Amino acid sequence: MINNPQDILNILSHVPQAIAIYDNDDLRIAYANDDMLDMWASTDQILGTNLGDCFPEFEVQGFIDILKNVWHTGKTYQANDVPASILINGEPNTFYFDFEYRALTDAEGNTYAILHTAKEVSSRLEAWAEVRKKEMQEMALNKELRASMEEQQALTEEYMALNEKLADTVDELSNSYKQLDFALDQSQRAKEAANLGMFDLDVKQDILLWDERCKALFGISSESDVSYTKDFVAGLHPDDRQETLAAIKRAFDRKSSAGRYDVHYRTITPIDKKVTWVHAIGNVYFNEDDEPIRFIGTVMDVTESVESRRELEIRERRLQETNEELAATMEELTAVNDELATTNSQLKKSEQINAEVNKNLTAAFEKLSESERRLNLAVLSAKIGIWEFDTVNEVVSWDERSRELFGSPHKHKIPYQLALDYIHPEDRASVSDAITFAQRPESEGYYDIQFRTIGETPGRVNWVQAKGRAYFDAENRPVHFSGTIIDISDRVLSQHKIDAFNRAIAQNALEQRLIVDAGKIGTFSFNPETKETIVNKHTRDMYGLSENSAVTADKLFSHHITLGDVEQELSILQIINERSSFDIEFNLPERAEQNKWLRIVGNRIWNEENHHLMVYGVIINFTAQKLEEKRKLDFLGIVSHELRSPLTSISGYLQILQLKSKSLENKQFHDLLVSANRQSARMKLLIESFLDIARIGEGKLRLNKTEFTLNELLSNIGQMLQQTVTSHSFTFGLDTEHRVLADRDKIEQVIINFINNAVKYSPVNSKIEINTRVDQKDLYLEVKDQGSGISEEDQNKIFTRFYRVENSQTEIVSGFGIGLYVSKEIINLHGGTIGLQSELAKGTTFWFKIPIIGAQQKNGQDGLPDIE
Ligand code: ADP
Repeated sequence: MINNPQDILNILSHVPQAIAIYDNDDLRIAYANDDMLDMWASTDQILGTNLGDCFPEFEVQGFIDILKNVWHTGKTYQANDVPASILINGEPNTFYFDFEYRALTDAEGNTYAILHTAKEVSSRLEAWAEVRKKEMQEMALNKELRASMEEQQALTEEYMALNEKLADTVDELSNSYKQLDFALDQSQRAKEAANLGMFDLDVKQDILLWDERCKALFGISSESDVSYTKDFVAGLHPDDRQETLAAIKRAFDRKSSAGRYDVHYRTITPIDKKVTWVHAIGNVYFNEDDEPIRFIGTVMDVTESVESRRELEIRERRLQETNEELAATMEELTAVNDELATTNSQLKKSEQINAEVNKNLTAAFEKLSESERRLNLAVLSAKIGIWEFDTVNEVVSWDERSRELFGSPHKHKIPYQLALDYIHPEDRASVSDAITFAQRPESEGYYDIQFRTIGETPGRVNWVQAKGRAYFDAENRPVHFSGTIIDISDRVLSQHKIDAFNRAIAQNALEQRLIVDAGKIGTFSFNPETKETIVNKHTRDMYGLSENSAVTADKLFSHHITLGDVEQELSILQIINERSSFDIEFNLPERAEQNKWLRIVGNRIWNEENHHLMVYGVIINFTAQKLEEKRKLDFLGIVSHELRSPLTSISGYLQILQLKSKSLENKQFHDLLVSANRQSARMKLLIESFLDIARIGEGKLRLNKTEFTLNELLSNIGQMLQQTVTSHSFTFGLDTEHRVLADRDKIEQVIINFINNAVKYSPVNSKIEINTRVDQKDLYLEVKDQGSGISEEDQNKIFTRFYRVENSQTEIVSGFGIGLYVSKEIINLHGGTIGLQSELAKGTTFWFKIPIIGAQQKNGQDGLPDIE
């Protein structure tokens, strides 16, 4: 029994709702239960103070005004989900509340208190916010899904299947939305209902009191009395019963629970089996012996929030599943997409190939019909004969052309054995063998043979080529054997000619090779463009190259050529690159003391086969001849040396005699002496030249240099010529008086050699010009005649030792071909150059240049007389 207000207040403290009571219009706090104090983050010290003084922030937020209004008007104020800011440790925190300010009025309608009940709903709101968020996510995903479905729909049937699957998912999702909406609606309504019940159990007397709400939760009518076992225990959901009773047991044990009781369980109504989630909070009161005597508390229907939490969990799980399903679907879609892309590109490729194949086929058909047309034409124009061989009956059927080629113009069909008679006896057996072989499967039926036919006309021979093919049945028996025949007489005859020709060529080549081998002649071919060089064995031997070593143009042609014994600036390669034909010598240094002398003769020819300008040539080893020549030269040197002393004496005597003869006034005697003197001078010159050659060969030709002017030298020569030469006229054009540092005798020797040659090789009475001039830093001298001239080919060789131009003139003019050779050596020793210009039948100019000591031009002639 509730005996006093304190009891009621005690009960209120267990209500699972925040409760406060204000008892004057200044809103003095007469009562606040623990939940309210917790909510305000305050303690019971505030009891008795005014609400506005304790919580100025409530004033600011308008709650104080509302409360005052309720006080004055007596009208209850109720609001849901209202945010309120409460200072906790000085920091404002926002919470959401459902609350009610209920004015408690007396009989006159005057307010004597305000009952303030509140319930914090922040977490519920958060839960709803979470549900909303998930809904939004689902909607977004749904949208995305639809979009991707639409995008992919057109692609394939497989795609369609997947779309259907997706559509199912979408349906499921929209169902979920509906359910969710429904749940929302329900919760909204449930929220509106006051859902607090109260229980009071007198433990000792086992009397249980339930208020209406409490009864309703257990499905008991409001009029019925209730008992702990019959109604409470039986009304608990079987799944929760044990746990709940255990909690009560715990609460009855003061030590372990201090009497606190706070559980969630389900009730199940006896008639309609309605299940309700209940949140029960209570307190057990004990006597001094710690025995429970009262158990008081409240129950609240929390089905809504439990359901929504469960719903949330289910949603989340579903969302998770949907997400996973989506991811899988997406993966599948991507794979399908990839597959489609591959298939597409393969399709494209095969389309291209198809187009290509079609094109090729069309072209091939065109070609085929073209070649068929050609074949018909060919058969006609090539006069091809067609035949068929009946292998069973051994009968040959042939067309007119075949018969013609066999020389048997009559029958269309002929026994095979008879047909063989038309074949040349020498070829008959081979044709018969070929035909037999073609009828055997291992031949694959091919028949191709050339033979002679003789026909019926005696003496007639015709070469033919027969081709055919035999076809076999399943048992490998020949069933069809036919073919063609053509006349190849012309071809065979020309082939015979070619064979004969080839044999002749082979014979020729053999002979040439024998000659080359016998003479140990080296051969080479050289491609100036690609530098490819091919040589025979003898060339390798000469150069000392092993059989396998690479032959390069560099190894073969980098040597300098020689003229006489003298090495030139030019290399073999330069010569063969520049000249269309060549005949050159060079010295191949060998390991042994002795050098090898080689001669290369060849020319450049356009090769039709490889379309290159090729150089072909032979290489001859002429060291033996060269040595022989050297021996001769040595001999000549010795002889000349031996002759020089007596000749010097003889010419001395002759000069004395010539001087003495003047007084004898015997003209004939004098003339003889003059002639003898001239001959001895020539001989002296000759012997000097021979000696010079020997010296040059040994490198012993030395200069004895003095300073002199060419003018004075030429004036002496002029005087000498006046006395000795009467056949030609001489003109001196001396344009310089420069001094030279040179070997006077040797320069004189060169000039006299030039003049002697001019006299020897130009007609009697013709003019010979001797000119000098300064040419930059050189002194230039030329001897110009109106003689026979020298061909270009000879000009290249004229300075070589013993070289004489071979013509009718040189046959009658004596000489050894050494004058120009020695002259060149002399001028070279002076650091000068020697050369000629010549034109056949017009004349030749020989010249040399040697360095001068300081150039000085002299005007006019030097006064030397023209010599007749
Ligand atoms: P040689 O006159 O004794 O034969 P050289 O060495 O002086 O010897 O001359 C070599 C060759 O050059 C001569 O055999 C001749 O055929 C040719 N030769 C030299 N000078 C002339 C010239 N002025 N005109 C024509 N041919 C010449």
